[in-house]
Amino acid sequence: MYLGTKTETYTGEDIEIHCPVCRKENVLCKPRLEIVTDTYMFFISIGHKRQTLMNCGACKVCLKSRVHFEKLHRYTADQLVGDIYPANGFSSACFALLALLISPVLFIGTIFIGISLLLCYWRKGWRLKMTYIALAIQVSTWIMFYFFGYIPLMNL
Ligand SMILES: [Zn+2]
Repeated sequence: MYLGTKTETYTGEDIEIHCPVCRKENVLCKPRLEIVTDTYMFFISIGHKRQTLMNCGACKVCLKSRVHFEKLHRYTADQLVGDIYPANGFSSACFALLALLISPVLFIGTIFIGISLLLCYWRKGWRLKMTYIALAIQVSTWIMFYFFGYIPLMNL
């Protein structure tokens, strides 16, 4: 294959933020600039993607910044509120939804609920509520299975 990607990462100095996920205020974290370059024949650049990322110093969740990497140090934690947001919004929403959909299925449902809990625990909100509902459905299915030998979807 002639097509490839090259990722360069630059780490900046510590900044203070109010974490939108764990709600801790004035948390120190290290911002990093990631430049992802799509290349053709390893050296001809055909596309760039720049993103400013950081991990919350308290909960370690990956956060994205709308403020440019070079300008980040000029802002205080209060000014950055709203411009720092969780990076994995889409995948955690997908897992929460999947966990709920297959919550009555034993074993497979358990795996998805586990992953969803890991992804959504710190960010709270509707994703976590959905995961808890999925967990409640899953637990009642296990109880039914234990007492009545009932396996949903197996006797269709
Ligand atoms: Zn945090």
